[in-house]
Formats: sequence, structure tokens, C-alpha cells
Amino acid sequence: MGVILEVQNLKKDFDITAGKLHAVDNISFQLEQGKTLGVVGESGCGKSTLGKLLVGLEQATSGKIIFQGRNIEKAGRADWKALRKEMQMVFQDPMSSLDPRLCTMDLIAEPLKIFKVCRTQSELESRVRALMDLVGIAEHMIYAFPHELDGGRRQRIGIARALALEPEFIVCDEPVSALDVSIQAQVLNLLKQIQRDKGLSYLFITHDLSVVKHISDDILVMYMGQMVEKAACKELFHSPMHPYTRGLLSAIPIPSLRNRRKRVLMEGEITSPVNMKPGCRFAARCPYAQERCRQEQPALREVSPGHFVSCHFTETTSISDTPA
Ligand code: SF4
Repeated sequence: MGVILEVQNLKKDFDITAGKLHAVDNISFQLEQGKTLGVVGESGCGKSTLGKLLVGLEQATSGKIIFQGRNIEKAGRADWKALRKEMQMVFQDPMSSLDPRLCTMDLIAEPLKIFKVCRTQSELESRVRALMDLVGIAEHMIYAFPHELDGGRRQRIGIARALALEPEFIVCDEPVSALDVSIQAQVLNLLKQIQRDKGLSYLFITHDLSVVKHISDDILVMYMGQMVEKAACKELFHSPMHPYTRGLLSAIPIPSLRNRRKRVLMEGEITSPVNMKPGCRFAARCPYAQERCRQEQPALREVSPGHFVSCHFTETTSISDTPA
């Protein structure tokens, strides 16, 4: 499988009254066709802005986005219209992302109508019914409105809309965080099944590491706009190296006394993301911070094949903090 998406040194700054907010700062990665890259981090770390940059809902300050071999960062309106067919987004809250005045039929038909995909009304209706079948919405719900459906079914409509134009790449921005746990599993399994059948590539954004584990091939951990660690999913869960990743992982509840991880406490205040000071952005909360951390920003290093970490003391912190 080839690389479908390559991001190089992507940056997005917002000018606000207090100065410059560095929402996405120097992010680089590759995504292979048919694979899922999970992007995790706390609220406000820039992961949703990253997703919006990739699908053209935000304009980057600098850097490159290469999609299917084309640099799309400087794409114009006409180019983006064509790219919409290839790239789609599934949003977090289906209740607010779906027009409450439209029924299932109209909601799923909307992208097909905009792109004039069907020549007749009956062709349009059969495409909508096929998409409903694909995402598991019963036929009799075709004229139901969003408020008449539960959260899982509303999210299935969001997925059907994203799939309507047969894209190659989908950004899933917290697609299950507004759902009950049992419904979360159904929606995750649906996304995985569709990926297997259609060879789709996903960027899966979430704050929940236990969710991302079930769907991702690789995981990218973001902290205050920067990538602090990236590795294959299994590797990251087995051998997390950045203190922030270890803190996130140690907070996942594990229903077993023997396999519990030692809790890594992240105390201290989160540094302001506006007009950043030099040094490591995690220093104020890091239990291993030293003077060098407050002076010098750590570079992203490949510490083992495919495992990237941004920390001056990766080797020391990893050894001293093995799971209990
Ligand atoms: Fe912690 Fe220092 Fe590593 Fe930053 S560079 S994560 S402050 S040990």
C-alpha cells in the first residue's frame, strides 16, 4: 500500500488579542492507504485544528499537505470542490452537525445532490437506501428526523453522508465521544468494517486512548500543538516513552490488580499556548523536568524504527517508570 497523505512541518497560528496562538506547530507524518492514524491529546491540544487543516476547513500558516501525491495546501476553491469527493469528515456531535429540519433521506442525499451524482430521483433514492444499509440504518427510518433517532443512529447518518461520495480519506473528529459506551463499540466496528471493505484511510481524532487503541494502526500524541510521540499502536501501548503519553496511559482504568500501570501524575499548571516561552511545553507538568527542559525545546527523535519521541531524557524516564 502506498502513502495517501503526507504532512510536512504543518503550522497553524491564530492571531488573538493577547498575541499568537500556536494551535498546530510543526507537525509531520505519513498515512498509508487503508490505514488509520489515531491522534490523541487533551482538549485544546490542536488535534481538531489539525483535522480541519487536512480537509481544507482551515488554511495553514505554513507547511505542506500532500494528498495522493499533490500538494493541496495552496489548492483553490475549484480544486477543493473536487477534493471534497476524496476527503470527508465525520463530526463529534451528530445532533449539532445534522440539520434538524431534514429527514434521513434528505440528509444522506444532500452531498449526492450537491455533486449531481444521480441522474434521476429513483437513482438517488436507491443510492440513499444502499448507504443506509451499509451503515446499518433500518429502511423504515428513511423519513425519520434527527430528534426521532438515538445518538448511534444519528452518527450512522453522519458516516453515511461522509461515505456518499465514495472518498478515499476520512477525518473522524471524536466520532464516538458523544455516544454511550455500548453504542461506541458498534460505531467503531462499523468504521473498521467499512475500512476493510473499501480500503479507506482514516485520521481518527480522540481524547480517549482506550477508544483509539481499537481502531488505530499508528498513534500520534499531541501536546499543545506539537507532536510529542508517534509509534505503531501496539508499540505505544507496550512501551510509551514520553512522560505525557505515560501519564495519559496510566489514567486508563484497567480492571485487573496485576496488570495495573503505575500512575504518572501530571501536576502543575498548563503553560499558556499564547506567545510560547522557550523550552519543553510539558515542563510545568512533567515529573522528570530538569533545568535543561526549561531552556531548550526537545527535538523529535526516532528512538527505535518508527517510534518518535520529543523529550531530552527519554531513555532515563522510560527506565525509571516501568509499569508496576
Ligand atoms: Fe519532561 Fe524534560 Fe522530557 Fe519535557 S524534555 S517531557 S520536561 S523530561
